[in-house]
Amino acid sequence: MKGRLSKKQRKRRNRIVVALAIFAVLEVANAGFHAFDRMPNGLWVEFAAFLVPYLVAGYDVLGRAWHGIVHKQPFDENLLMTIATIGAFALVLFPDAEPHMAEGAAVMLFYQVGELFESYAVGATRRSISDMMDIAPEFANVERDGAIEQVDPAEVAVGSIVVVKPGERVPLDGVVVSGRSEIDTSALTGESVPRTVEEGVSVASGCVNLTGVLTMRTTKPYGESTVQRILDLVENASEKKARTENFITRFARYYTPVVVGLAAAIMVLSPAFGASWSQSVQGALVFLVVSCPCALVISVPLSFFGGIGAASRAGIMVKGSSYLEALASTDTVAFDKTGTLTNGTFNVVAVHPHAGADPDLLLSYAAHAEAFSNHPIALSVRASYSGEIDQAKIDEVEERGGEGIFARVDDHAVLVGNDKLMLAEHIDFHDCTLVGTILHVALDGAYIGHIVIADVVKDDAAETVRALHAAGVRKAVMLTGDRQEVAVAVAEKLGIDEVRAQLLPQDKVACVEELLAAEPERGKLAFVGDGINDAPVLMRADIGVAMGAMGSDAAIEAADIVLMDDKPSNIARAIRIARKTMRIVWQNIVFALGVKIAIMVLALPGIGIATMWLAVFGDVGVACIAILNAMRCLRVPD
Ligand code: ADP
Ligand code: MG
Repeated sequence: MKGRLSKKQRKRRNRIVVALAIFAVLEVANAGFHAFDRMPNGLWVEFAAFLVPYLVAGYDVLGRAWHGIVHKQPFDENLLMTIATIGAFALVLFPDAEPHMAEGAAVMLFYQVGELFESYAVGATRRSISDMMDIAPEFANVERDGAIEQVDPAEVAVGSIVVVKPGERVPLDGVVVSGRSEIDTSALTGESVPRTVEEGVSVASGCVNLTGVLTMRTTKPYGESTVQRILDLVENASEKKARTENFITRFARYYTPVVVGLAAAIMVLSPAFGASWSQSVQGALVFLVVSCPCALVISVPLSFFGGIGAASRAGIMVKGSSYLEALASTDTVAFDKTGTLTNGTFNVVAVHPHAGADPDLLLSYAAHAEAFSNHPIALSVRASYSGEIDQAKIDEVEERGGEGIFARVDDHAVLVGNDKLMLAEHIDFHDCTLVGTILHVALDGAYIGHIVIADVVKDDAAETVRALHAAGVRKAVMLTGDRQEVAVAVAEKLGIDEVRAQLLPQDKVACVEELLAAEPERGKLAFVGDGINDAPVLMRADIGVAMGAMGSDAAIEAADIVLMDDKPSNIARAIRIARKTMRIVWQNIVFALGVKIAIMVLALPGIGIATMWLAVFGDVGVACIAILNAMRCLRVPD
């Protein structure tokens, strides 16, 4: 950690070390040898002597307090410290009192030690996040006229050919056109096992190429690349503050003037309870020192920051601490099926032509109609079609969310979709006895048969539902546009508690609203989805979670949390991280306030047993412990 201190931090550290050394010498001379007592005017020599380490350590605090007073915003911890320490020195004016110069200097010194530690901790947390965020590629090797040129990734046009050598970072999102290699995706997904990629596979920017040379065709400009998207997310994360965080900030604003007022009251009223003036001043000073709210003001945001960092290490991008806070009280999780719980690649199970239609022709029309769609179904239909897709044959494509697609192919009107689409278009169709997603196909208004496809549940889908229940989620719900039979089959396999099938995108919003209404008061509802048509639902839910790798840009945009590697089980992990963060936040709030209130009570007139030293612990010690505790948020629970 040492070499990584900023210049400002180093300067501050040196100042504190010097002040501490002077202070130690003086304290030994004073308490050990009673040197000052033996001098003429010893008290004033002592006063002047302790003023030296005090000013060396704290001149900037005094400066800031003065600045605050001048600018009419005096109530902050600088003022508390200034009044308390000046007060301690001022006790010299009371002939009946023990002098408290040493404590005055000590309060300032330890306060500064605490401040330095805070900036260490914040810096270390920030760095550990930005290290991990160190994913921005520096250059791209672009092939131009047969030669390779190194250029800024931001200047590479979509469709360019780039070469990525072993050890280099993939500069832009793209598809491999030749070569085969292992790539390390851990910076994006937290997944440590390298992935093998070869021709035809999409690779996200930010991954590191490990073994072979890859030639890729870029598919997105740098501004829309995965790397840029992640960096944007992290940068904006601190803007959406959690309620607890805002509360603490507001609390600190009112708290300081109240404390100053209380301290003044203690000072004025104590003599009425039989305390001497010097005792009452001392009680007021203890009160001021211990009441400094920095333990909370620093540790609460630091905890959230650490929690967001831990999540991003696990491949979970959280767009703000408010979502982390909401996630901790998640009670219901609703999932979209296709692409979220299932991996979104469908196998064609059967092709059932109607009334003598040619099965190849059926598939060909379907594949052409789906040529421009990004829906998982479209991708799978195209993949299973062995012929060429001639894009010149297609025009007038219209995708109907939750139903299917209409397209004009070879001047024929082609419809591909589910029962709903057929009913809406008044086309007579057949049911199918097979369990699967049925794609009915109609040509110029006449039914020509259907294709049965089946999707495969993701490896970790069943574990996801179990882990969610274990993490305290009461209900897992599946919302899907697919058929009831398919939905129920998948739900049973996964242990989902409730299923709603055959939903249009707008029905999903209505379902989520219903679920929201049924939520217990403090419970939150998370919706996990991937598609363009999930965007409205993602916005409506308390917490919208999108799949980052396969998910559509609209979904990622609308979501509050993005799972970079598309593993639904990461939502359970995100909830565990959120719960841990909130637990630590509350531990710190209770601990800090508890200790402080206890010491304040001990400082009250009539009790008066809290010393300045105890007050220093109540301020700096508590802050350091709270910060150390907050830094635990950075560790990912497994
Ligand atoms: P999910 O909610 O499971 O993600 P969608 O809402 O995306 O599903 O789609 C619901 C249903 O609409 C699909 O099961 C399918 O029957 C039909 N459908 C949607 N898009 C298409 C398409 N491009 N081609 C054919 N059918 C489609
Ligand atoms: Mg979907």
